Amino acid sequence: MPILQTLSDTLHGHKNTTDKTLVPASSPTEAKKPVFDHNDVTVIFVLGGPGAGKGTESAALVEEYDFVHLSAGDLLRAEQAREGSQHGKLIAEYIREGLVVPMEVTVKLLENAMRAALSDGHSETNPRPGWHNGKGRFLVDGFPRKMDQALKFDEEVCLSSFVLFFKCPEEVLLQRLLERGKTSGRADDNEESIKKRFKTFVETSMPVVDYYRTQGKVIEIDSTPPPAEVHKAVKTVMDATFAIAKAPLQG
Ligand code: AMP
Repeated sequence: MPILQTLSDTLHGHKNTTDKTLVPASSPTEAKKPVFDHNDVTVIFVLGGPGAGKGTESAALVEEYDFVHLSAGDLLRAEQAREGSQHGKLIAEYIREGLVVPMEVTVKLLENAMRAALSDGHSETNPRPGWHNGKGRFLVDGFPRKMDQALKFDEEVCLSSFVLFFKCPEEVLLQRLLERGKTSGRADDNEESIKKRFKTFVETSMPVVDYYRTQGKVIEIDSTPPPAEVHKAVKTVMDATFAIAKAPLQG
């Protein structure tokens, strides 16, 4: 698969222009520093089965807490549709089969999107206290869906703060997705793809939730009730953490 060789050329965004002749090769034991410092950049992962309400709830949280919402699925669909993308066909196949797209693609797309959002950041015409001086806060939805992504992102992009995990029974998820499929136009909102997505979620993504659970980083929310009720439950959790989000800057 040519994905590793072509990735840096084809994914738009940051290019590593470092002159390699000027820097000594790092030793294999040398720990890599993440691109973003978690003291400045807050990353909250939003996980849950397909149809659990990750996107709906993330969108509701954006306004209130000044987050930027990045959906891994949306970034992949945009990359798939981007003219000239060498990964379009591969992404389409993985999405249709309900499989996890190779991490090199997904992690790079997220890193690029974070970099772009941070460079927009705070300005006089758009004052955003939480985005001042290189600071920022992201809701990263639908990511990480596999252990390799989780480890790579935490080690190389930014150490995540915690995980919002939306739990909901499969029967409810199936009904929601079939209903959504009537209007979404998504290639994977059909019964065959949905069942594959459930399987991938249980086998590949739940271990990620369990991994973060062992680190005490998972906040579990029952997302069976209607969105307004789920939002209330999430707000209670978030208020404790981000109550100062809209407070005026000190100094
Ligand atoms: P979603 O929009 O979150 O429902 O995701 C739709 C599809 O995009 C998934 O079934 C995967 O094929 C792909 N996808 C979404 N998020 C990821 C991810 N973090 N890593 C790899 N593939 C993903």
